[in-house]
Amino acid sequence: YTKQTGRNGYTFYNNEMNEKSREKLSLGNDLHKALLHDNFLLYYQPQVDVQSGQIIGAEALIRWKHPEKGFISPAEFIPLAEENGLILQMGEWVLRTACQQNKAWQDAGYEPIRMSVNLSMHQFQQKNFIESILRTLEETGLQANYLELEVTESIAMYDIENVIKKLDILDKAGIHVSVDDFGTGYSSLNYLRRLPVHTLKIDQSFVRDINIDWDDTAIVNSIITLAHTLRMNVVAEGVETQEQFAFLKEHGCDRIQGYLVSPPVPAGQFEQLVKKTVEGVTL
Ligand code: C2E
Ligand code: MG
Ligand code: MG
Ligand code: MG
Repeated sequence: YTKQTGRNGYTFYNNEMNEKSREKLSLGNDLHKALLHDNFLLYYQPQVDVQSGQIIGAEALIRWKHPEKGFISPAEFIPLAEENGLILQMGEWVLRTACQQNKAWQDAGYEPIRMSVNLSMHQFQQKNFIESILRTLEETGLQANYLELEVTESIAMYDIENVIKKLDILDKAGIHVSVDDFGTGYSSLNYLRRLPVHTLKIDQSFVRDINIDWDDTAIVNSIITLAHTLRMNVVAEGVETQEQFAFLKEHGCDRIQGYLVSPPVPAGQFEQLVKKTVEGVTL
């Protein structure tokens, strides 16, 4: 009797696994097609300077509109692209498109802003990583200091000397680097102290409960202090309310990003936002 249920349980589990991996495989194929047919979009989320209220940057975020399933979240397809290697081509497309867009805005006469691009560790680890970044800047005509690369704390899992070497080259070239989702990973302070990075981005999970959860409020405060102690800038992600904004401003956070200002939007809508902030009505 127990054997029987055991076997049924196993079979059921097995079918579910097959179903899952079939789905994954087919989504992986669709991802490949999307890359071939240029079916991705790039959205831009404004980054606002807390003191001036002006838009001083944008984070480029990839969007995929699946022909049948509609928009699929990057949280779902980025890990898949990392598994099947498509992330490299996808990452190149994102970088190029983001640089081109930023240059086009400058050429159109908008106040220059810095464009942040999320990097996968797979990209960072590529042998020709530095060359490919520099080549993209050259080909798009964007100046290095208008590009920011976002890495995650998982960078701490790799050979530190090698990581520092690469970050140093980027730094010398004038490219900014920020640590995304800061506080959720495992980087030690000793490690962080040695990295030539310019900015810490406080993860939105801490920002969400500012003034609600005492621990999270204290953590946000500590990260702001830590960043400034290490002579870095600090950005709060996922800012949705005036209360969160007021707290961040009072505690010296440099920049914010979040639905309070705007969700990520297509380039055309981003331009409208910039025009509005120039008139001073964002916050
Ligand atoms: P991330 O880099 O930490 O990006 C911030 C995420 O928070 C974005 O989700 C953004 O839409 C969302 N967000 C912004 N403001 C708010 C807010 O006020 N409230 C809430 N609840 N959410 C907010 P998105 O676009 O779905 O991206 C998810 C993650 O996928 C990104 O997290 C990033 O790790 C990854 N990703 C997105 N685009 C790319 C890309 O081009 N390349 C790579 N390698 N990863 C990407
Ligand atoms: Mg990011
Ligand atoms: Mg983040
Ligand atoms: Mg992230």
